[in-house]
Amino acid sequence: MTMSRRNRQWRDRRARDFYASEAQRAGWRSRAVFKLQSLDGKARLFRPGMRVLDLGAAPGGWSQYAAAKVAPGGRVVAVDLLDFAPLPGVCFVRGDAGDPAVLTRALERLGGRADLVMSDMAPNISGIASVDVPRSLALAETALAAAGEALGNGGVFVVKLFQGEGFDDYLAEVRRRAARVTMRKPKASRAESREIYVIAAIGGEQ
Ligand code: SAM
Repeated sequence: MTMSRRNRQWRDRRARDFYASEAQRAGWRSRAVFKLQSLDGKARLFRPGMRVLDLGAAPGGWSQYAAAKVAPGGRVVAVDLLDFAPLPGVCFVRGDAGDPAVLTRALERLGGRADLVMSDMAPNISGIASVDVPRSLALAETALAAAGEALGNGGVFVVKLFQGEGFDDYLAEVRRRAARVTMRKPKASRAESREIYVIAAIGGEQ
């Protein structure tokens, strides 16, 4: 292993520990919340009263953050394959985000269309890029399809992607549907990780 790779891994581990303990100290459910906070800081994703669909939501840091940001009057529906401990202001639907019945249930709970669809869905990471990248891309495609249905005429779509084969095609598809697309790598995301977040204003909002 080269020195710079070892240094990067060391920096990543230290950052991971920092964000994990900060999350615990502040009462957040996951350190992933700091990624959303950073995306929100630049893009101003939330407003009180918004309806938010959170795909791949467990253990719940993003939903927790969103629920605080859309109050009063907003609504957050969280979807995950895994169970999810109850959170004030968040309604949970357990299931596969790619299952049309799950999406229908989530939209019913939302009370109609979403203003913001966010997906932090991730596969179980194998550490092998040729396995993880296509799995992540498939989840991002699922999220884009869900956003197409949930956003209706317009809104904001936030999705986690792994850079690698298929990334450019996916991005081209998002650009085709969106008025504006930005890409962000939040500080809380490990430097070693291929993950990057895409924020797209679909239907000309934002
Ligand atoms: N944003 C979350 C938070 O702040 O706590 C962390 C999300 S975690 C990185 C990724 C989640 O995606 C996992 O809980 C996993 O179960 C979920 N997931 C993966 N595939 C999914 C699918 N097809 N449908 C719904 N959830 C999925």
